[in-house]
Amino acid sequence: MIVEEIKIKEVLEGTKSPSLENVRDVLAKAREKKGLGLDDVGILLNSDAVRIKDELFQTAARVKDEIYGERIVFFAPLYVSDFCVNGCAYCNFHTENKGLKRKKLSLDEIEKQVGFLIDMGHKRLLLEFGEDPAHNDIDYVRAVIEKIYSLKREKGNIRRLNVNIAATTVENYRKLKTTNIGTYQLFQETYHRETYKKLHQGPKADYDRQISAHLRAFEAGLDDLGLGVLFGLYDWRFEVLALIAHAQYLEKELGVGPHTISVPRFCPASAVSYQPEYPVSDADFLKLIAIIRLAVPYTGMILSTRETSAIRKQAFKIGISQASAASAASPGGYGSNVKDEAQFKLRDERPLAEVIKGVVDDKMLPSFCTACYRRGRTGEAFMELSKPGEIHTFCRSNGLLTFAEYLEDFGNGLYKKGYQTIEFYLNQIEDEGLRQQTKERLKKIKQGERDLYF
Ligand code: SAM
Ligand code: SF4
Repeated sequence: MIVEEIKIKEVLEGTKSPSLENVRDVLAKAREKKGLGLDDVGILLNSDAVRIKDELFQTAARVKDEIYGERIVFFAPLYVSDFCVNGCAYCNFHTENKGLKRKKLSLDEIEKQVGFLIDMGHKRLLLEFGEDPAHNDIDYVRAVIEKIYSLKREKGNIRRLNVNIAATTVENYRKLKTTNIGTYQLFQETYHRETYKKLHQGPKADYDRQISAHLRAFEAGLDDLGLGVLFGLYDWRFEVLALIAHAQYLEKELGVGPHTISVPRFCPASAVSYQPEYPVSDADFLKLIAIIRLAVPYTGMILSTRETSAIRKQAFKIGISQASAASAASPGGYGSNVKDEAQFKLRDERPLAEVIKGVVDDKMLPSFCTACYRRGRTGEAFMELSKPGEIHTFCRSNGLLTFAEYLEDFGNGLYKKGYQTIEFYLNQIEDEGLRQQTKERLKKIKQGERDLYF
């Protein structure tokens, strides 16, 4: 079994009320960046949040910094079709929402939406589809991906597409694999079977189909896989442990753990009456981000605009490595003011330029890097590089190059300060040769060259 509910409950029970010494031992182990076992995670989950908060956050911030450095990689979601045959209680696209004017973007509409995103400065997108075999069949998904990769505008192009489609067959995943996507993401929503059953209707109601999807995707050759939980549906402590158990299962069975973990938290939506039974407070939410960071230090962590700018700012420090920005959550949402059609209400609606400025003000480096999968650094190859910390080396250089591109093409008011940030981190590249090469490429970008990467 991928996740054994009884085992998860036993761990949570067996690690109740840990002593401060126990908690500190786990934090010391976490500092070694080798990840944590389920009992260790249980101890952190059950620890007294107030007493250990500072130590937990400091440890998570340190581990994050040592592996990912100062970078936050940015992307935007692109909702392609909200046709959906499922009845997920929390989602505005649920099949019973008869008031929703369903929309499936034509390839021309895709071009327009992508135009908005490229002209904002985005280079990476996450494609979102509802589940509907008639409207959103795999050939449509492929046509959309091919279309987006073919688009070139004066201000650039989209260089990496991550995809979130419903759980499907090995055959369909094989078709998806031919399109050269980045990460295939699919969230379990809740690992608690009974809650899962209660909240889902339609083909997605099959818990086993959902939880085994990543194995089929891997069989089809998709080796960058993303996991996630929708927080608020069930006890967050249970969900975090189950998520880590799922990640460990993939690592053991496939030889490679998940590439990313997403941590969406429930947001209200116009036609959703469901109220989360287990709302997660801001304090617990930040705590769980820090714990996941320590449990699977080499797995990227994604945060969306479901969170406020204040929460995002803190989360970036203690674990998050990728974030969406300036998002719209409905098909055709970019360049439109219609909000009721969205999958849920967003909490960070700042334009990309403002988000980027905030990150620079916080002494971090915004990155739009897409190098790894284009260089074949995916799945096991990625993990082999990332574990000894080498990925960090490439990533910093690539972050600097993509941020310089952003400043040249969209920088406006941020130009001077942005280049100070670049200078600062350029000087932190220890390898003399790499620093020199990065410097030369930065010069070329100033002269108009684009898409340079290591
Ligand atoms: N149809 C695909 C699926 O279900 O996997 C794509 C899903 S949807 C576009 C992406 C994710 O949004 C879902 O997996 C779910 O976790 C999340 N989501 C749905 N409703 C939400 C809500 N009300 N608040 C926050 N996140 C939500
Ligand atoms: Fe459909 Fe996905 Fe929304 Fe469920 S979460 S109703 S599957 S779009």
